[in-house]
Amino acid sequence: MERERSNEEIMALTERHVAATYRRFPIALVRGRGAWVWDGDGKRYLDFVSGLAVCNLGHCHPAVVEALQRQAARLLHVSNLYHIEPQAELAGLLAANSFGDKVFFCNSGAEANEAAIKLARKYFSDRGEGRFQIITMEKSFHGRTMATLAATGQKKVQEGFEPLLEKFVYVPFNDVEALRSALGEETAAVLVEPIQGEGGVNMPAEGYLRELRSVCDGAGVLLIFDEVQVGMGRTGRLFAYEHFGVTPDIMTLAKGLGGGVAIGAMVATEEVARSFTAGAHASTFGGNPLATAAGVAALKATLEEGVLENCRKVGAQLAQGLERLRRRFPFIREVRALGLMMGVELDASAPDVVLRCMERGLLVNAIGERVLRLLPPLVISGEEAECGLSVLEEVFGEL
Ligand code: PLP
Repeated sequence: MERERSNEEIMALTERHVAATYRRFPIALVRGRGAWVWDGDGKRYLDFVSGLAVCNLGHCHPAVVEALQRQAARLLHVSNLYHIEPQAELAGLLAANSFGDKVFFCNSGAEANEAAIKLARKYFSDRGEGRFQIITMEKSFHGRTMATLAATGQKKVQEGFEPLLEKFVYVPFNDVEALRSALGEETAAVLVEPIQGEGGVNMPAEGYLRELRSVCDGAGVLLIFDEVQVGMGRTGRLFAYEHFGVTPDIMTLAKGLGGGVAIGAMVATEEVARSFTAGAHASTFGGNPLATAAGVAALKATLEEGVLENCRKVGAQLAQGLERLRRRFPFIREVRALGLMMGVELDASAPDVVLRCMERGLLVNAIGERVLRLLPPLVISGEEAECGLSVLEEVFGEL
């Protein structure tokens, strides 16, 4: 077997030629299994980041690894000029388990949102209606391509890339009146994360998403849910919208969809998807055999191995534990959680907590200065959850 490189060797290699777009921690992760990862120096970490909600089934889930090995030996890639069996199977599974009828495959969350924005415009263009404006939310995050950057309601993400693509308008999340006032004759769609992820794990107010649906219906506007982060079981249901008694016209997925492999998808109702005719949109790699074979295995495992039930059970246990810590440590302002999508708002430095946890072998994430985000694999055990909680308790005790 090849010698594994140390943290230091991998860091030096990275710094030489990898673009510096990420502020990286001084470790390199080289191996993973379930909820655990190992760095180049052999240190083990409990992973409450999960590749930022990608490794929902933990690292190297056996069914995903097996499907990848099988597919890699059979057929890695063919063009979408031909039919692709695992792509068709994954589309069927997504349709059978969601509101949607048709799926367009791509390679990332940003691409899925690009497809959704393009489909919304094309839908109205096909009807001869001049509707091209997309309303999104302040503090939203939809990606880094030029259209999804414009859709993202965060100035700091957009700075330096102006002029932005036109016809994006932002309103505060959880404010139906602001949305009503922003709607106009040019509005094509409202694009919203059911729970804001990068914006700070912000929960929708009671009834908010249902009201959005009825406002969109009243105005003849499409509703798009960005479930890139909250979809694929993260909240304890396969899709977050299931919690809120409302369905969108279009939904975007990525992250957890491939069990660790790059893939994105846009799911739409039959009526809306009809505007994606031959030649209207495309992606060379979108829906390729390897990624979709992984997607089929990941989705089946999620549905058949009690993953959603485990997410709800361990999610409730972790949320209770965090609430216990909140009562003990006054600098914990709020715990926001649904399933294993968790944010802890602090009156203390979240990046500092992240570093202290990492030293003790627990990986967690900070959103800005004040929010700690926990995204454990959905397959995490009760004991692993307690293990993470005890590290957090120790770290909080030091602050
Ligand atoms: N949408 C949401 C809600 C996200 O959280 C993200 C990534 O964090 C994206 C879109 C962009 O996904 P990607 O990085 O795969 O392009």
